[in-house]
Amino acid sequence: MTERKYTCIICPQGCEITVTLDGKDIVKVEGNTCKRGEAYVTEELTAPKRTLTTTVMTLSGRPVPVRTVGTVPKEKLFDCMKEINAVKAKDGVRHGDVIIEDVAGTGVSVVATADDV
Ligand code: SF4
Repeated sequence: MTERKYTCIICPQGCEITVTLDGKDIVKVEGNTCKRGEAYVTEELTAPKRTLTTTVMTLSGRPVPVRTVGTVPKEKLFDCMKEINAVKAKDGVRHGDVIIEDVAGTGVSVVATADDV
């Protein structure tokens, strides 16, 4: 048996969750205040996902902050960054504009999180 400790990031309470594993099998989950914590650690152990925040450059060379709309599989982050680094946003891009649809085949869009000024 092994134990892994996680801090749940689903809500601001930040419960410290301990997962007991028998090999890859989850035997026990402790410390979560609600079911969402158990779902979070289960996903972390089986198919971890992340929201990606970064910047893209506009055609004129100004950086604009962007993020994925939702989460992408952790193992796809490098492919997502490669695709994001290869695009240029139009000048005058606005907060919420889609920069990439379906980044790296994840089905997730990348949007601007600020205006290009
Ligand atoms: S386990 Fe529930 S209450 Fe605790 S941080 Fe996660 S979502 Fe919030």
